[in-house]
Amino acid sequence: MATDTANEQTGTLAVHAENILPIIKKWLYSDKEIFLRELISNAMDAITKLKHVGLSEGLGELGDLAIDVRIDRDQGTLTVSDDGIGMSAEEIRQYIAQVAFSGAEEFVRRYEIDAEKNQIIGHFGLGFYSAFMVSSRVEVLSRSYRPDEPATRWVCDGGLEYTMAPTERTRGTDIILHLPEEDREYLETARIEHVIKKYCNYLPIAIRLDGKTLNDRAPLWTKTPQGLKDEDYLEFYRKAFPFEDDPLFWIHLNADYPFRLQGILYFPRFKHELDASKGQIQLFCNQVFVSDHADALIPRFLTVLRGMIDGPDIPLNVSRSALQNDPYVRKISTYITKKVADRLVTLFKSRRETFEKHWEDIHPFVKFGMMEDEKFHDAVQDIVLFETTRGGYTTLKDYLERNEARQGKQVYYAAKGDAQATYLQLLEAEGLEALYTQTVLDSHFIQFLEHKGPEIRWSRVDSSVSDLLVDRSHKAIVDAEGRSTDDRIADAFKSVLGQEADVEIQVQHLKSAEVPALVIQPEHARRLKEMSALLGEAMALPGRKTLVVNASSALVQKALAEVDSREDLCRQVYDLARLAHEGLSGDEMAQFIARSHRLLAR
Ligand code: ADP
Repeated sequence: MATDTANEQTGTLAVHAENILPIIKKWLYSDKEIFLRELISNAMDAITKLKHVGLSEGLGELGDLAIDVRIDRDQGTLTVSDDGIGMSAEEIRQYIAQVAFSGAEEFVRRYEIDAEKNQIIGHFGLGFYSAFMVSSRVEVLSRSYRPDEPATRWVCDGGLEYTMAPTERTRGTDIILHLPEEDREYLETARIEHVIKKYCNYLPIAIRLDGKTLNDRAPLWTKTPQGLKDEDYLEFYRKAFPFEDDPLFWIHLNADYPFRLQGILYFPRFKHELDASKGQIQLFCNQVFVSDHADALIPRFLTVLRGMIDGPDIPLNVSRSALQNDPYVRKISTYITKKVADRLVTLFKSRRETFEKHWEDIHPFVKFGMMEDEKFHDAVQDIVLFETTRGGYTTLKDYLERNEARQGKQVYYAAKGDAQATYLQLLEAEGLEALYTQTVLDSHFIQFLEHKGPEIRWSRVDSSVSDLLVDRSHKAIVDAEGRSTDDRIADAFKSVLGQEADVEIQVQHLKSAEVPALVIQPEHARRLKEMSALLGEAMALPGRKTLVVNASSALVQKALAEVDSREDLCRQVYDLARLAHEGLSGDEMAQFIARSHRLLAR
């Protein structure tokens, strides 16, 4: 393959497909910049290898080994140098001309058979040959750590031919990229600094750009959690995610067995809604940045977290779907989910006050997670909090325990805010407790909880009149015509409201005399309506509402007694009940106001 002419040799790359380079260039166009990650990774490997042989072969003190990236605008070159293990002429021939090229070939083959080309998670594996994505010519100057091996210069223009000749160099390797006109952006310091910081910010070996060290060699996740303080985590977060609010709390992942995994996951403030775009979990492999797409590794609900996961054994050359189905990756996913759940449970148990303080911020995350992930649900179900009408937060379990004697497995709930205030007043007057729901998510969440625990019934406070609110001691007295007062009240309302109101009328004696009437709507009917509204269906669902007229109310008694005002009073009672339920339309409101004036003037 190689021919000697004096000191210079010419060789032919051992390849079968001449068009590998154009293919690589085309496919990786948007990700071109990864060439630098590949070259720096190789340099890091070379230094790591040297450290190993240094130990085993007793090479003595090696000094502070580093990777140097240098820009030479005049020459139009970008150079990546290391003082690592280096290569002999034979090794260059073997590793660069053959191994590297067949590696690239293998990479292309995988790309070709993979339907989801652009979804390959890390683009790892292209290695040295990615240099040709941005170079019209690549030079390799290298000298092996073995003292009797001379230095070698290898030059290739990206075609199938290369030349090799002896040269001068101390131990280590320079990869010199000659950039063509269209790739001159890689001669800009800012551009290169950006790329190095993106991919190599946390590499364990110093990386200098024109002499200036850029990286943090011992990122926090590589340290043992025991020795770290809150301030360390916050400081690290602020550097990694500048201009963001401080996180609420965090999890330090640190596993050796059954797989190696390190990382830190931060809980950002979610601000009520789960904004997936806020999350950012970076995936690393031995401190080398791989991608922002950790979502292939972990359940969707966790992708709203921020932080870093470093898994040296995560397969990176596969497509996203292959990754998700990988049994090893599944184990990692389960592990991370469990760690997140454990963290929440520990916080709940050991620092309940803090947990409650953060609940507003984390509840969408927890609820969404429970609905998405069975195991997560099982782990955190007992720490879900609800705001209660008693003030503060409660768990469902505590709520049920407190109220079981009177309510059985019945949960009353109301939307937070004033929407169901009248109903809540009635409940509270009876010493009953209701839970508040907060967001749209809660209506899904309640349905989910019912599905999980069908023995527990969830009813919004305006879905029925609880038996507990009704005065059962009342005895009906029937008049000469066989009609009770309740019948008369019902008759009065029916005749006044007539057909126009599609409500059923029911007369009850409530324990409280304060509220003259209530509109109620069965739980399932309301939910159906909400659901269709959510789906954007302007479907006119049958009213199926009931006006519960409170016979204990003085106003209702008055409506019955005062024949002249009866119509106005009955309508007024109805409108007041509707106001407390869902409000009045513009027209109805105008009538209500006019009627109020009339009644007040009387
Ligand atoms: P990979 O790194 O995946 O093996 P590459 O194509 O990047 O594939 O490199 C091929 C081989 O060339 C490496 O395995 C290594 O032996 C050698 N090599 C590349 N860069 C260097 C370097 N800077 N120093 C020493 N050896 C190197």
